[in-house]
Amino acid sequence: MSAKSWVEVDSDSHFPIQNLPFGMCDSEHAEGMAVCRIGDFVVDIFALYETGLIPATDSMATGSIEEMCEYGGRKEVERVRSAVFDLLEANNPRLRDDEGLKSQVLLPIESVQMSIPIGIPAFIDFYSGINHASNVGKMFRPDMPPLLPNYRHLPVGYNGRASSVMVSGEPVLRPNGQTIGANDETPTFGPTKELDFELEMGFFVASGNDMGHPIRVEDAFDHMLGLVLVNDWSARDVQRWEYQPLGPFLAKSFATSISPWIVTLAALEPYRVDGLQQEPEALPYLRQPPRSHFDIQLEVLLKTAQATKPQLICRTNSRELYWSMPQQLAHQTSNGTPVEIGDLYASGTISGAELGTFGSLLELTHRGQNPITIEETGEQRTFLEDGDELIMRGWCQGDGFRVGFGEVASKVIGKT
Ligand code: CA
Repeated sequence: MSAKSWVEVDSDSHFPIQNLPFGMCDSEHAEGMAVCRIGDFVVDIFALYETGLIPATDSMATGSIEEMCEYGGRKEVERVRSAVFDLLEANNPRLRDDEGLKSQVLLPIESVQMSIPIGIPAFIDFYSGINHASNVGKMFRPDMPPLLPNYRHLPVGYNGRASSVMVSGEPVLRPNGQTIGANDETPTFGPTKELDFELEMGFFVASGNDMGHPIRVEDAFDHMLGLVLVNDWSARDVQRWEYQPLGPFLAKSFATSISPWIVTLAALEPYRVDGLQQEPEALPYLRQPPRSHFDIQLEVLLKTAQATKPQLICRTNSRELYWSMPQQLAHQTSNGTPVEIGDLYASGTISGAELGTFGSLLELTHRGQNPITIEETGEQRTFLEDGDELIMRGWCQGDGFRVGFGEVASKVIGKT
């Protein structure tokens, strides 16, 4: 796509006209504005209606992304996006040549504060990164096959806590929890000593289903709004002690950070790819259509309080997921449970097969046995310390541009 905008966008920007992701922000003058991002600007969607630049619909009563979804699901959001695309297209003079209108609808990114893009009724976390599952299996169950018998038959997941999902920039408080030392007989309660990140992608639901009516795998993309980066914070020492037999609980529910921009499925369409070969073939209700995965390049950087710049610690790609997002949504609803607008589904940790491509410190440091050295300062890290900042970035590479997610960056702070 050689589309160009009259808004100048750097070639390494994550937000060219090919992207136009949606988010929610506050400014000095307004709270809770739905906006689209282009380069270093945001487009105020409600102002587009007020000024008559795009035709009004009932969905714009407050200008929130929820309302667009309630009005017409994914289609309505994409209708708005394509109207914004037309207005920003290089050859369209309507907004380009009207300074007064421009000042009403276009705001510099520095003048707004991003917030959670949509109300999140539920947060669900899968375990679809096969290399991560296999690496963890080898570490925690060295005498058994790395993958449990169910792994290649269903996307393993659990229902988490939506209330602790935060947007990039909000600090993460080191949680307290119950842990037990290798030679201890009884546990103690206090701040986790093994605070970790998990590199994941997430999708938001744009339209739900009625109870008793599963979403079919071939229809799943129609129910999705778009994707964000997810850092699913984890307290490994708490997790190790609490997780059997029912799975993750407090070790995961204290915080989850997401990037502020929902990159739409329309923008991601050119980057859909076939996933890993599934062997054995999935049961019929999980048989996915072709190109159910995405080619998203991912990186993780760590910046300690002493360092002046972040250090790259992981580079991988979302193609390393074994189970696709359509399979996850089809599986979640296969028992008839209803899902709702704004439900957030995280993929599970995305890791490649070699060191340097692992999406968690648990794997990068092999359970804390092989510390990472921060080259600039000589410091060592097994798990995260107070003052550390963890940054995740992701993008799809186009021909001369990037369709990106921006970043999810959060600093760890201790208890005060
Ligand atoms: Ca996770």
